[in-house]
Amino acid sequence: MTNLLEARDLKKHFPIHSALLRRTTGHVKAVDGVDVDVIQGQTLGLVGESGSGKSTLGRLLIQLIDPTGGTVELDGRELSGMSERRRRPLRREMQMVFQDPYSSFDPLATVGEGLSEPLVTHTDMTAKEREKKVGELLEVVRLRADHRHRYPREFSGGQLQRIAIARALALNPKLIVLDEPVSSLDVSIQADVINLLQDLQSEFGLTYVFIAHDLAVVRHVSDRIAVMYLGRIVEEGDSDEVYFRPKHPYTKALLSAIPIAHPHERGARERIVLAGDPPSPANPPSGCRFHTRCPLAMQICSLEDPAPFAAPDGSQVACHLHTSGPTLLGAPLVELTQPV
Ligand code: SF4
Repeated sequence: MTNLLEARDLKKHFPIHSALLRRTTGHVKAVDGVDVDVIQGQTLGLVGESGSGKSTLGRLLIQLIDPTGGTVELDGRELSGMSERRRRPLRREMQMVFQDPYSSFDPLATVGEGLSEPLVTHTDMTAKEREKKVGELLEVVRLRADHRHRYPREFSGGQLQRIAIARALALNPKLIVLDEPVSSLDVSIQADVINLLQDLQSEFGLTYVFIAHDLAVVRHVSDRIAVMYLGRIVEEGDSDEVYFRPKHPYTKALLSAIPIAHPHERGARERIVLAGDPPSPANPPSGCRFHTRCPLAMQICSLEDPAPFAAPDGSQVACHLHTSGPTLLGAPLVELTQPV
């Protein structure tokens, strides 16, 4: 398995400006030292609460915004620090689909014009070639070629999200970052869009980063899952390992909030209610950033930032319970990593 994308120590700190003092008074550390590998042809799910930094990380990975620090390599080519002129051809290889399809299109332009836009900017296709390509793209996402004459308001949310996916495909990308692509859709439509994405992945060999707050959806579509909390990845691993055998207390809490359909399984998953809201990313807690809400926090947790621990199953987890914690608690590791 080859990595299509590798990010190392990636950071994005947004300055906080005081109008009164006319200077920068601090920084929101939206992404603060993240390592990510995205395997070619696979889907990496990025999950976390609102404000965890997952959408910012998605934008950093495809260079929609410049990082404050760290590196991103696509297919072995370092992107950070590259001039816009050299980066421009690489942009074709990385596309993004956003949560709200209505805000992705100009309401005054037909969807055909919207789909032609990237072809005009990035290719030397003639008008006739573009028209043919737009028709093909619409058919690829299971719409009709003549839909190109319609306006965005004439489509349902699910249809328009298909068209947004078609536009992402226009330049034959290798990587697509999908930022909450089904969150604004009815549950009945979500499955259609997810099935379409999976079919397109098989057909075109696409690599996805799938961002969502719903771990059940993320598990369904992902090969691997990375869980974010306050600008850091706290757990990363094979999707079934993370879903069925979570190691980090935050992952366990997220999973415990998922409703369980089968009555006989309900008793197996105890609801963990986290105290309070996530702290501000402008002033993250010392040591482990989760210690102010963690039901298993120990003294060491507020003092030392836990280093990522590589578990035997190939997962990575940043929690003292998996390193010094068992010794401190006097409990064997196996008892601390029970499935939720
Ligand atoms: Fe909880 Fe401590 Fe682990 Fe952080 S390091 S998740 S506070 S047990």
